[in-house]
Amino acid sequence: MAQPAKGVQCDFCGRPSPPAALVESPLRPVYICLDCTAHIQEVAQKELRRSRRLRGWQMPKTSPAEIKAHLDAYIVGQEAAKRKIAVAVYNHYRRVAALLSQESPPSVQVEKSNVLLLGPTGTGKTLLARTIADLLQVPFAIADATTLTEAGYVGEDVENVLVRLLQAADYDVESAQIGIVYIDEIDKIARKSENPSLTRDVGGEGVQQALLKLLEGTIANVPPKGGRKHPEQNFISVNTQNILFICGGAFEGLDAIVARRLSRQTIGFRREQIRDSHSSGWYRYVQPADLRRYGLIPEFIGRLPVIAAMEPLDQEALLRILTEPRNALVKQYQQLLAWDGIRLRFTEGALRAIAEEAFSMGTGARALRSLLETVLEDVLFARPSQEEIEIDEATVRSKLAPLRAVS
Ligand code: ADP
Repeated sequence: MAQPAKGVQCDFCGRPSPPAALVESPLRPVYICLDCTAHIQEVAQKELRRSRRLRGWQMPKTSPAEIKAHLDAYIVGQEAAKRKIAVAVYNHYRRVAALLSQESPPSVQVEKSNVLLLGPTGTGKTLLARTIADLLQVPFAIADATTLTEAGYVGEDVENVLVRLLQAADYDVESAQIGIVYIDEIDKIARKSENPSLTRDVGGEGVQQALLKLLEGTIANVPPKGGRKHPEQNFISVNTQNILFICGGAFEGLDAIVARRLSRQTIGFRREQIRDSHSSGWYRYVQPADLRRYGLIPEFIGRLPVIAAMEPLDQEALLRILTEPRNALVKQYQQLLAWDGIRLRFTEGALRAIAEEAFSMGTGARALRSLLETVLEDVLFARPSQEEIEIDEATVRSKLAPLRAVS
């Protein structure tokens, strides 16, 4: 390639550029600078991501069973929740596809079915929502309900949950409008008592009212960069009609409400249910009435018609999570070390010891990552030159012993 003469300009942006930073067209004497090529690449990638996303949802050639099978590859256990979510998500996108392609005249209005995921922390609620979004190649955002307050109070306006979705969609409104938002800690916006209180409850009922509108479907005015709304600002209008909201929460204390209701009922399998409701398997018995008593307003509950319960993870499930999912933690560390030519192996006893420790911490699968990090700390630092490293139970126990001493 001929070097351009000194002092040539970029024909794309018009700025003068040193010859070494210019690329010449193979056909004509025109030049483009490296800054512009980078810019073009960025635009092209954005467009590619957008068209991939649109293709992904426009033709959902999938079935609830296929969605479930996909979830199985990433999420251990949680069979009932995976089935429910697979059906809900399939129906949701079926409805969206029909609405957008105007496949059939809308003689029957099919309502949107947002999802409420109940379950202890670290059992895969966020993972489930994220995995669905990946499968469908739609934008995905996570929001935390505890940061939201009623408009006009210190904290975030509810529209901020859509800011993240817009960001995930590279500000492409059309694709954000078919995205998925996971709202974590939804239990934290329960009203403090069942009776509407006289004092203001800025983080509770008011937020539920505001979120309710997003959940039902509304045109929301979203401040493009987030933060508080103010009148002089430009807003982006986002229609939430086809956005799937998945709300999750651990609902601490709800078990007592469920147990009380069950003990009042006189049905055959009551005794077993009550026993169950005292262990952590109670989530599956939750009814809308319990949520109302907990402090969610009926309209809000009504907008979350699909309720799925996540089961607590036992030691066996934690063990499987370490190795089985497609992106299992053990596989990730093995890959990291494989890049340096090191083969990492764990004995069955080592993995069991890690699962046992994680179980005792009571935070579901959350603890697994930091436990593995602790166990592998020296290996990850030293990157020893031997080709194979085996981690056995004794190594795990000795590395994790200091954790026990402080807890
Ligand atoms: P939650 O939202 O229920 O608090 P997360 O989905 O954030 O929990 O899970 C925390 C971590 O544990 C994530 O890294 C996730 O990959 C892993 N994890 C949790 N539950 C499961 C599961 N059932 N199968 C596989 N991995 C899981």
